[in-house]
Amino acid sequence: MYTIQGYSKVKTLEEAYELNQKRSSTIIGGGMWLRLGNRSIGTAIDMSDLGLNQIEETETEFVIGAMTSLRDIECHAGLHQYFNGMMKEAMKGIVGTQFRNTATIGGSIYQRFGFSDPLTALLALDTTVEMYAGGMIPLDKFVIMDYDNDVLVRIHIKKDRTQAAYQSFRNAKTDFPVLTAAVSRRDGKLKVVIGARPGRAVVAKCPDVLASAPTEEDVKKFSGRVAEMVSFGTNMRASAEYRKILAEVLVKRAIMEILEQTSPEATGGVCK
Ligand SMILES: Cc1cc2nc3c(=O)[nH]c(=O)nc-3n(C[C@H](O)[C@H](O)[C@H](O)COP(=O)(O)OP(=O)(O)OC[C@H]3O[C@@H](n4cnc5c(N)ncnc54)[C@H](O)[C@@H]3O)c2cc1C
Repeated sequence: MYTIQGYSKVKTLEEAYELNQKRSSTIIGGGMWLRLGNRSIGTAIDMSDLGLNQIEETETEFVIGAMTSLRDIECHAGLHQYFNGMMKEAMKGIVGTQFRNTATIGGSIYQRFGFSDPLTALLALDTTVEMYAGGMIPLDKFVIMDYDNDVLVRIHIKKDRTQAAYQSFRNAKTDFPVLTAAVSRRDGKLKVVIGARPGRAVVAKCPDVLASAPTEEDVKKFSGRVAEMVSFGTNMRASAEYRKILAEVLVKRAIMEILEQTSPEATGGVCK
């Protein structure tokens, strides 16, 4: 359990950033990850008065405030509709509804967990992270950056007519995923992301293009070649060899889903 010496409910982002420059300070998102540690926190920075718990949809993008809960993303009708139900699929396996009501997207993406469902999903889309000092950083760059004392403010996802699908595999419901995979397709071009390898999610280097009207066998072969291009590791949940086999299966399923995609409403709507 962590202990907190001081608490500041900030009124501006500048205040949050200034306070966060001190090593002993920490931004509290949902606090769900922090509560598992035993840090002694000098100043806990609470950004819940900054209106960052909103999802805004404009003509060109979705803008998600850092304090938005994973559950709000899961249940957002616009995101659900635009990205073919992918965001709901990526969120729904994370622990349980009450947990997702508290954990934030800011805490999830800032931390760049090696098991992250949202990181895998967002990397497949055209996503940019808005940092207070660092400005706009494409997610594929942010994911390999070191931790610093900056403040994650918002996440921007471009509305670029991308089709998307998400797959994950867990040994048991509510556990961390053994493997995650997200695929998007724009102008016929596929982007494949594999996460929980168990390292941070990566965009796979696709070895070749998939035929314009591929058979299931074509997709299987393509997915197998993609899995060859990614490195996997072993941990208590699965071996590297098993993860590689899973990657082929999950990527194939996600591509098949994209090829067969209908309205996400046909798969049961946004949230029950
Ligand atoms: C038991 C358990 C199981 C989990 N299972 C999964 C899972 O299966 N899949 C999955 O994807 N995730 C999983 N997670 C991770 C979870 O979904 C959240 O990503 C995690 O709890 C962090 O979100 P938070 O809002 O709780 O962040 P916090 O715990 O509040 O913060 C985490 C870190 O991020 C920093 N931070 C928070 N907000 C900001 C910000 N705006 N700017 C800069 N830094 C910030 C904090 O200072 C802290 O260092 C799990 C977590 C737990 C505790």
